[in-house]
Amino acid sequence: RAKADGRNRFRYFDSSLDATARRRNLIEQELALAVSLGTLELYFQPLIDAQSHQVVCAEALLRWNHTRLGPISPGEFIPIAEETGLITSIGAWVLREACRVSSSWPDNIRVAVNLSSRQFLSPGLVPMVENAMKTNAMRPGRLELEVTESLLMNSTPAVEQTLKTLSKLGIRIALDDFGTGFSSLSYLRRFRFDKLKIDQSFISDMDTNEDGRAIVECVIRLAKDLRMSVAAEGVETQNQLTALRQLGCGEIQGYLVARPMSATAFATFLNAGDDGSERRYA
Ligand code: C2E
Ligand code: MG
Ligand code: MG
Ligand code: MG
Repeated sequence: RAKADGRNRFRYFDSSLDATARRRNLIEQELALAVSLGTLELYFQPLIDAQSHQVVCAEALLRWNHTRLGPISPGEFIPIAEETGLITSIGAWVLREACRVSSSWPDNIRVAVNLSSRQFLSPGLVPMVENAMKTNAMRPGRLELEVTESLLMNSTPAVEQTLKTLSKLGIRIALDDFGTGFSSLSYLRRFRFDKLKIDQSFISDMDTNEDGRAIVECVIRLAKDLRMSVAAEGVETQNQLTALRQLGCGEIQGYLVARPMSATAFATFLNAGDDGSERRYA
């Protein structure tokens, strides 16, 4: 009987795997097409200074609205782009587009671009970054590159060298999703990051338990002691914002402030704050 069960179970998993594999293949093909047709979009989500509530930065986030399949999240297509190598051309476009769009913003507003670990395998990364900045006459300090712990988890001397080179160019390097990796603290010894972004799972914990707040407090203090700036991701409630301000968190990003929006909407969002009036979440 165990054998029969096993066989049934196998058949069940087999057919479900099939659907997953089919979806994956479809996305892979359609993504290659989207890249060549130029139908991917870049959205921007503001980061504000926790004290002044001024916009200080915007994170560029990929959006893909497929005519037939509807919106497909980067959480689904980025891993496929990484596996297939498409991430190289997508990443190059994201960098160029983020630099182009942000060149029309006030000079004190930075733009943050996410980099996949896979992009670090390509020796073309540094020239590509330099080129995107040069084309748009961009001051290096306005560009922030967000990397995750997975980059350092399997890192080679070449990866660390690339990080150092980018850093020497004056580009800011941020450690994204901080706290979700396997040994976050050891990475802080290996490379001097300019910024830590506390993962949103810790921020949402702040509302529900004391320990959540203690962890966030501890990360903020750590960042300060190591002279890094610190941002909170996924801030959704006024309570979280108030607590983060009290704890001395530097920058705030989340739906409470604004959702990611098109470049045009972001320009309007910036202008709306021009009169210096406090924003809604003040
Ligand atoms: P991430 O870099 O950690 O980006 C933050 C994610 O949190 C974004 O999801 C953003 O829309 C979402 N978010 C922001 N505020 C809130 C909030 O208050 N509540 C909640 N629930 N979510 C919030 P998104 O846009 O779906 O992107 C997911 C991930 O995909 C990103 O995580 C990043 O790792 C990756 N990604 C997006 N664009 C790019 C890109 O251009 N290149 C690369 N390599 N990866 C990208
Ligand atoms: Mg990010
Ligand atoms: Mg993040
Ligand atoms: Mg995150």
